[in-house]
Amino acid sequence: MNEPKNPFTTLLVMLAGILAVAALALWAESSNKSAHLQGLDNGLRHAALSIGNDVVDSIEMADIVLLGLTGEIKAYGGVDQVGTRLDHIIAELSKHAPDLRNIHVIGKDGHLIATTVTNADMHRTFADRAYFQYHATTASDEPLLGSPIVSRLSGEHIVTITKRLNDPSGAFAGVVVAHLAIDRFNTLLERYMSAFGSASAVVVHTDGTLLAATSEFANRIGEKVSLPPVQADLQDQLSTPVTTRAWSLDDRSRRTASFASSHPPVSITLGILQDSIAQEWAYDSRDRWFIGIALMVAAVAPSLRWYRQAKLHHASMTTLRQREQELQLLADASGDLIERLSVDGVREYVSAAAVDVLGCRPVDLVGTRVFDHLAREDRLTTTEKFVDFKRDGSEINRVVSRYLRPDGSEAWLETTLTRLEAHGILRGFVAITRDVTRRKLRHDELDALANTDTLTGLANRRAFDTALTTRLQAARDNATPLSLLIIDVDRFKLYNDTYGHASGDDCLKAVATATRSAVRRDDFVARYGGEEFAVLLERADADAARATAEKIRRTIASLRYPHERNLPWGYATISIGTATTGTDEITPDTAHMLFNAADAALYRAKGSGRNRVQSDDGTNDDTDAGKVVNV
Ligand code: GH3
Ligand code: MG
Ligand code: MG
Repeated sequence: MNEPKNPFTTLLVMLAGILAVAALALWAESSNKSAHLQGLDNGLRHAALSIGNDVVDSIEMADIVLLGLTGEIKAYGGVDQVGTRLDHIIAELSKHAPDLRNIHVIGKDGHLIATTVTNADMHRTFADRAYFQYHATTASDEPLLGSPIVSRLSGEHIVTITKRLNDPSGAFAGVVVAHLAIDRFNTLLERYMSAFGSASAVVVHTDGTLLAATSEFANRIGEKVSLPPVQADLQDQLSTPVTTRAWSLDDRSRRTASFASSHPPVSITLGILQDSIAQEWAYDSRDRWFIGIALMVAAVAPSLRWYRQAKLHHASMTTLRQREQELQLLADASGDLIERLSVDGVREYVSAAAVDVLGCRPVDLVGTRVFDHLAREDRLTTTEKFVDFKRDGSEINRVVSRYLRPDGSEAWLETTLTRLEAHGILRGFVAITRDVTRRKLRHDELDALANTDTLTGLANRRAFDTALTTRLQAARDNATPLSLLIIDVDRFKLYNDTYGHASGDDCLKAVATATRSAVRRDDFVARYGGEEFAVLLERADADAARATAEKIRRTIASLRYPHERNLPWGYATISIGTATTGTDEITPDTAHMLFNAADAALYRAKGSGRNRVQSDDGTNDDTDAGKVVNV
């Protein structure tokens, strides 16, 4: 069994995979964000350029109108010469410049000469206006972009674009003024900025004055602000850098782009609050993050659940393996041989005791069958017992059989087989085998002892009873006759009385030895009682029985074992009764009947003189009976 694989490594690989996917998603998200920011920057650049062009166009339009106006006045020979024509001229000019609110012409003393404002107070003086004082003292013909002011004639918030009027000698002759409504710029800025969220835009004079702004800074118009434009490449407005900077107007950080112009001297700066960009991004990507995190959880949760289960499985496998090792240690420590067998009796595991029990190393036995090397006499029965056990479903079985070890010695083995089942299906067996050779031998010795007569060494009465039963059975199976001889020593009581009990014992031993020598090897001789012996003769009919009995009688007589009171012979003699089974069926009573018949015959032998053979059929052999002593 291999070491069970630790699931932690697999979990790490799974989590690494999930992390890799998450990292890819984050990378995509980050690319997505930079693309979004880039788009935003481009939008800002374009807006700055468009607004800038629009504002510059409006101012330049005013410049052109004023240039046209001064040209007309000059053509008339001076402002004083134009007279009432002037109203008509400015009305016409303002028609062609819809961005202009109003046009005035102011005389060199600061009084209004003409205006497009209807019902204007013509006595108003503008000598105090900054632009008037500038033009009165500066000979330049260049138009001047003023700061935001409230028009004295229309009451509107405006910026002025003004130009000096000269008389033919070149001296100051007055100022022409064009009004641009600040509202118009504000609206323009609002319109552009509405495309972005939380965006602001300002138009700033080069001198720092705020000229126009989106609503949040509208109340600051006219103030000096410090918001220099982001430096732009004038050749390529679209490559204008977009940076993040804090606006001095409110100290808040904005993604900022600018458009700067030197003529007219204005800059347009646009900005989107940095916070709002982040918020907008968070809002936009919210769903993606939600789905992404949900997917991560969906991927990680089953991984962790799998890991928990795998860890439990791993722990139980490890325990199982430890248990198996412990069991193996126990098995190997056991003096009994422990084997695991397949359902066909092939060894799958063999414990260390195999060396002592089977004389083989475990490694040489794995894969062999348990029936190999059984003694030939036991192989068939053991195999049959195994098959029966497999079939009958009993839990345990014990078999004793002989086994031939490689060194040629034979061992008696007692094996206890237990079924191994899983879910009711037979998976194999556990066999626990013990060497019972010594026990078996001792048992055999005891058995022999229990069946042997200690005085004569012949089989005893117990053994005789068993032998009678088995040999009767064999006689029936083989349809052969079986004969029984019962032998009794004549007048043995007198022998004891004459020679003593110990001598009696010696006499009995001599009779036993002689009887044993007088019969065939496979004839069964037993000491049946005190001075009585029994002989079983297989395949012997009545005649053969009589012949053998006679042979025994003669043998004893020929010993001439002194027995002075056994007259007329003076030596020890025996009487024999014989009985032979017929062809009748053997019944449980047969043994009894055969014995009684032989005993009855013996009784008759005694009655008719002793030292003779008497058959149960009444035949009296021609014996020594009644003959003269010492024959
Ligand atoms: P019979 O010819 O009619 O058989 O006369 P018997 O004296 O032999 O008959 P009985 O049965 O009266 O006597 C048997 C005697 O055998 C009695 C007993 O003392 C003797 N005996 C029995 N067993 C032993 C033994 O183990 N050793 C000795 N020494 N004597 C025994
Ligand atoms: Mg007797
Ligand atoms: Mg006797």
